[in-house]
Amino acid sequence: MKYCIRCVLPENFPTIDFDENGLCNYCRTFEKEKNPQEVKSRHREKFERLLETHRGKKDYDVLMAYSGGKDSTYTLDIFKNHFGLRVLALSFDHGFMSPYAMRNINTVVERLGIDHVIFKPNFELMKKLFTLSVTGNLYSKKSLERASTICSSCMNLVKFIALKLSLEKEIPFIGYGWSPGQAPVQSSVMKNSAAFAKATQKVLYDPLHEKLGDAINPYFLSTEDFNDADKFPYNIHPLAFLDYDEERIYGRIRELGWQPPQDTDPNSTNCLMNAFANQVHQQQHGFHPYAFEVAGLVRMGVMSRDEGLARLNKAGDETVIQAVKSKLGLTK
Ligand SMILES: [Zn+2]
Repeated sequence: MKYCIRCVLPENFPTIDFDENGLCNYCRTFEKEKNPQEVKSRHREKFERLLETHRGKKDYDVLMAYSGGKDSTYTLDIFKNHFGLRVLALSFDHGFMSPYAMRNINTVVERLGIDHVIFKPNFELMKKLFTLSVTGNLYSKKSLERASTICSSCMNLVKFIALKLSLEKEIPFIGYGWSPGQAPVQSSVMKNSAAFAKATQKVLYDPLHEKLGDAINPYFLSTEDFNDADKFPYNIHPLAFLDYDEERIYGRIRELGWQPPQDTDPNSTNCLMNAFANQVHQQQHGFHPYAFEVAGLVRMGVMSRDEGLARLNKAGDETVIQAVKSKLGLTK
């Protein structure tokens, strides 16, 4: 397998194109971008200006999608202690949370003094959804460059459940702990548009509804929810416009009582299903679903190319993978 000489994108990545030196198109675009620091401060200032108008108006300033992983734990702390916001944390329990992550979540919200909601959807339905994610054709080729089908199914539910809750509680911001490799700084401070959300929901909802029926309705917006476009919150992922240093992140969250899980694969610090999701994606598409994110982190200097390749080439724990398959009913 040939990889980009700078990042870790492999030759079978769908939209890759190497120049004569073996440098990929993503690295070439990155080189051309002028002054990333200036772009970062512009977005940070934009968020700070929005806070002046929106903070303190309702019960909560930000609804944080809190997975218990290292990046979302750090982001939770940033919202509470750096920006001084009143945070409501929302965790989504899909039935495959690492017990270590559950303990981390409880410890951290208690330590930070944050209100917290756990949303645990009907597991029989989740089982059908994840099985369908493995076998069905639910997502576009483009979205599968950046995440496995299982991750996409889960994240899409999280996004719509968070949006629904933020509209109900009139919370002006939804926070995400995306690493700078997962989501670009350009989208780090962005208002949800009712029209766009409606179109996105339709693309996701229709194929799922066809297979799973009305049982999925509680996880999506109703027709009335789209009426008040002004109420739609901003999505914020602050790690894109702040300095991202994994060592400092681990240092800070350990102070909050967070401990590294011993049972997840190297690309996740909360989800036991991830190793299985990665395995399925690699079998179906030939490349690792985290290749895009890790390549971004390597390009930005967060980790070395060797560290990135090692992270992607480490196989998931077979015992964990078998346990996940068994709980999903996918073993014979
Ligand atoms: Zn590259």
